[in-house]
Amino acid sequence: MASRILIHCDLDAFFAAVETLHHNLDPDVPLILGSDPKGGKGRGIVSTCNYAARKYGIRSAMPIGEAWRRCPGPPQGTGHYLKSTRGLYSRASRKVMAILSQYADKFEQASIDEAYLDVTEYCDGDWDKALALTRELQSEIMEQLGLSSSFGIGSTRILAKMGSEENKPAGIHRTLPDEINSFFEGRPVREVPGIGPKTATRLAEWGITTMSDASENGEIALARFTSERFASWIVRVIDGETSDDISPLRSRKSVGKEHTFETDKIDYQSVINQLTLLVTKVMKRAKDMGVSGRLGEVKIRYQGFETHTHGRSIPVAMDDESVFMRLAHGLFAENVELERPIRLVGFRLGNLEMPDTRQSTLEFEEE
Ligand SMILES: [Mg+2]
Repeated sequence: MASRILIHCDLDAFFAAVETLHHNLDPDVPLILGSDPKGGKGRGIVSTCNYAARKYGIRSAMPIGEAWRRCPGPPQGTGHYLKSTRGLYSRASRKVMAILSQYADKFEQASIDEAYLDVTEYCDGDWDKALALTRELQSEIMEQLGLSSSFGIGSTRILAKMGSEENKPAGIHRTLPDEINSFFEGRPVREVPGIGPKTATRLAEWGITTMSDASENGEIALARFTSERFASWIVRVIDGETSDDISPLRSRKSVGKEHTFETDKIDYQSVINQLTLLVTKVMKRAKDMGVSGRLGEVKIRYQGFETHTHGRSIPVAMDDESVFMRLAHGLFAENVELERPIRLVGFRLGNLEMPDTRQSTLEFEEE
């Protein structure tokens, strides 16, 4: 069967880019979004930051005080600290998605700044047309909205997603079906979405640090080091046989847990600690059920009961706790409305996949 042609689009440092436009800032000045740093004494967290700030090792969910130590704001340093402007991101996101979706046979928004497009029919199965289309989309998003974006083109969700990471920012990478093996050749296993730090460490203990090492060891040896399911999955990744399904509908099947605080919390570190616990529980539950998921969602309820859900889907269904842990922490940090007391936090694993044989015997928690 002929391969599908999938495109993954990922906006470059989206939140920071939107703020830079909104406040007319210099993109080369380190911009840190998050809690009030209070001259380095602030106890909140970093929501996100731009590329200039990332050069200082500043990351989403890092304590704001540590960000300040790495790159102080005025008067000592050059860092620019800002609180997120609510509403700005979803407005910009809607405009980007409107541009992207008009060219796709099938369209799936994966998060506020990421989308998958199936353009097989639109491009008549022609990979050169797909490459030309991504160039057009990239310039349209820049010209109309002033936002930088990166694109990956490939025959599976994983290849498309990894392609958009390849030459970031403002990059385009295409992996043709006959280039899949060379694409993975010598590539660190850590770069493959779905292989979390724990799995990577485990593989490294067996001398497997690249996809070539994995390939040389083969499925049976890999199964002995990890699990049969992981081994057969990684072989399918290398063979370019993982999912190419772009689904506009989010599955309602999910497993989730939430926690209501006895008193509303303004201390985000303790909320993150609770979220960590919830992710661990949910992922254990998923493992016990023998299911994996492609969507992670963080729920935040503020004082007064206003509730927001923030989601992100990954290229393939996984049950790796560390993958969803990073995703959940990132979603929380990027989306939490700082200075608002939090009443409840929750985590949900969605778009579940399971072995067919067990499907009928499972029951799912619905929100
Ligand atoms: Mg992005």
